[in-house]
Amino acid sequence: MYQTKNSRRDSSVTIIGAGVAGAWQALLFAQAGHDVTLHERSGADMMLSTSHWAGGMLAPYCESESAEPIISRLGLRSLDLWRETLPDTPFNGSLVVTHARDRADFERFARLTTGHQRLDAAALAKLEPSLEGRFGDALFFATEGHVEPRRVLPKLHEKILAAGGTIRFDSEVDAHELEGIVIDCRGISARDSEAQLRGVKGEMILIETDEVKLSRPVRLLHPRWPLYVIPREDNLFMLGATSIEAEDTGVSVRSALELLGAAYSVHPAFAEARIVEFGSGLRPAFPDNLPRIGISGQNIAVNGLYRHGFLIAPALAELTLNYIARGQIDNAVMRCG
Ligand SMILES: Cc1cc2nc3c(=O)[nH]c(=O)nc-3n(C[C@H](O)[C@H](O)[C@H](O)COP(=O)(O)OP(=O)(O)OC[C@H]3O[C@@H](n4cnc5c(N)ncnc54)[C@H](O)[C@@H]3O)c2cc1C
Repeated sequence: MYQTKNSRRDSSVTIIGAGVAGAWQALLFAQAGHDVTLHERSGADMMLSTSHWAGGMLAPYCESESAEPIISRLGLRSLDLWRETLPDTPFNGSLVVTHARDRADFERFARLTTGHQRLDAAALAKLEPSLEGRFGDALFFATEGHVEPRRVLPKLHEKILAAGGTIRFDSEVDAHELEGIVIDCRGISARDSEAQLRGVKGEMILIETDEVKLSRPVRLLHPRWPLYVIPREDNLFMLGATSIEAEDTGVSVRSALELLGAAYSVHPAFAEARIVEFGSGLRPAFPDNLPRIGISGQNIAVNGLYRHGFLIAPALAELTLNYIARGQIDNAVMRCG
């Protein structure tokens, strides 16, 4: 899998974009002793990033239902890096449920994935008391985790500073005007240099209620797309996410009905929840929906994280670091030109 080229030991590294891809790159490079500067055009609230809108599920087993094996490989390695770097990351597993009419989809999902056990209704109720009586059974992926993007990005940024890196928010930069090693993590904004990049819209809704308690993401299998409910702090729940080949932002009535309907069918008490926010983000994707680390001299571009940014960003950062430190090339992800 690996080839080795001459190693590069330049110590100063500039990273563009402090979303989940750029934050992990900056962190691992700073921890390895490089002089890191991270530029981000948003303020510290990261409102201009796709990462701001994400669910934050770390679910390599569930994702293997529809993603290539490389996503599982990068995802499993990333789980270790999340655990080592942020030991308070919740690893409570994730649940997959369905209603009787979509039974065939549930069995198909079970067949196509590993890393799960079947729970009957009693075991499900023990794990998630709020779901008592709601479903006849469930798939439990015990080793999966989830992060809250709007809380975890600031934590990663703090760690970058603690490791000696510099972050410049409200700083929009041009890669061509920077010297030394430049790692471009601009997500969908990198289309000026990555003509094949496209945005895949994901819509989400944030709701608030204290009537339902969940400790882990719950995916409800649905004929059009997997919809999920992710518990957040302060009685918030994120409902996500559509996957639409469109690059506008905004949330359609149809999507809102489907997301809210999914929540209601997971638990009717969600009907009384307060809607806090509607939003959407553009997932940066190449035609094959796989991530890519493009290497051209001193310029490295990390992009195409699609629907797996939180799942795979740590492992991608490790690969980039291994390339700079030892010249290692991972042929499945890297393209040299
Ligand atoms: C609704 C939704 C749900 C999702 N759920 C999940 C999930 O559960 N699990 C998961 O793993 N993934 C999920 N994703 C996918 C994930 O959000 C993306 O893969 C990830 O956010 C991409 O990260 P990125 O760092 O490449 O891009 P971004 O987060 O967009 O970061 C790029 C940054 O670059 C900055 N930038 C751009 N140009 C410049 C410039 N010239 N100078 C300085 N800064 C610049 C931008 O402001 C931005 O902050 C979801 C996505 C959506 C939309």
